Amino acid sequence: MVQFLDLKKITDSFQPELSNVVNRVIDSGWYLQGEENRYFEKEYSKYIGVSHTVGCANGLDALTLILLAYKELEVLAEGDEVIVPANTYIASILAISDTGLVPVLVEPDASTLQINPDLIKDAINPRTKAIMIVHLYGKCAYTEKIGEICQNHNLLLIEDNAQAHGCKFNGRRTGSLGDAAGHSFYPGKNLGALGDGGAVTTNNEALADMVRRLANYGSDKKYVFPSLGINSRLDEIQAAVLRIKLPRLDDDNEKRRKIAQRYLSEIKNPLVELPSGLGIGEDNVLHVFPIMCEERDKMQSYLTDKGMQTLIHYPIPPHKQKCYEGKGILKFDGKLPVTEMIHERELSLPISPVMTDDEVSTVINAINSFKP
Ligand SMILES: *Cc1c(COP(=O)(O)O)cnc(C)c1O
Repeated sequence: MVQFLDLKKITDSFQPELSNVVNRVIDSGWYLQGEENRYFEKEYSKYIGVSHTVGCANGLDALTLILLAYKELEVLAEGDEVIVPANTYIASILAISDTGLVPVLVEPDASTLQINPDLIKDAINPRTKAIMIVHLYGKCAYTEKIGEICQNHNLLLIEDNAQAHGCKFNGRRTGSLGDAAGHSFYPGKNLGALGDGGAVTTNNEALADMVRRLANYGSDKKYVFPSLGINSRLDEIQAAVLRIKLPRLDDDNEKRRKIAQRYLSEIKNPLVELPSGLGIGEDNVLHVFPIMCEERDKMQSYLTDKGMQTLIHYPIPPHKQKCYEGKGILKFDGKLPVTEMIHERELSLPISPVMTDDEVSTVINAINSFKP
């Protein structure tokens, strides 16, 4: 049996340190907004290469808080348009529609699977105020062209870094490339907590202060509420857990790259299209290893029968979800063929720092032996 992601094994690999810090927090008697958060925010800022980190409850809240803060600072207003890749996880898009902004879907490039920089320009109009790039599958979505477009059109650049902790662009970490970034520490992410967690990173002090206020009911000072906020906190236990796991993140990402390298060189089935455009240098932390296969569903059942877990990222694209379809909430140009093709053919292979060489070989052999 090859699990897609053996979380128990990952947690065990950090023992006894995790149990020790959890006990330390239990014994401290202080469970929210304490030292662990303060230290984690400092350490994460240093790691990402930004001046501010604000911990919050999860990745969706992180993205939502960024957009709410820009509205509260009157940088964004109701009805402003935010460009976002059509093939992202729905949370990126929910953050935009939940804050009264308009998600404008742009197709990915079929090779990199990231938002297609050449198509962004066509989606820009006077209402466009921001681009949210998503470093999907752990691959950097930022390109110099996207940076130029943001400058030339005076657009905010927001990064959804939920899948790409540790990823770099020309030596700089994703999460530090734009105006602000949202991070998720959901247990299955490259940097995962033992429950929910999230953070906003930015070099903009006014934005960081506003995010912190909005995450704290709209308050900077006890019982005084200048803004309408929410309650979104990273608890002390999760911050302490993340402080244990962060120092090993780069090594773990390197292990993912090694597995990806084997998949790329040893999978030989002509029915499988390997993600050659994904690259496996420092601009990719391989959160997901996506292969494309026209016989995807048959391939997945075949692997399941042989005891190998795979996932699909994602079976239904956001614009086909009932919550959005036909409601006029999403803006896009008629059809999204590249997005739909990816959703029909994508299959994610197991890739995690705790996979053994034998497990990787088992997956490779099974894929190479598949015939429809
Ligand atoms: C996981 C994820 C999120 C949401 O993070 P949560 O912590 O689960 O709320 C947002 N965007 C992307 C691309 C994700 O993969």
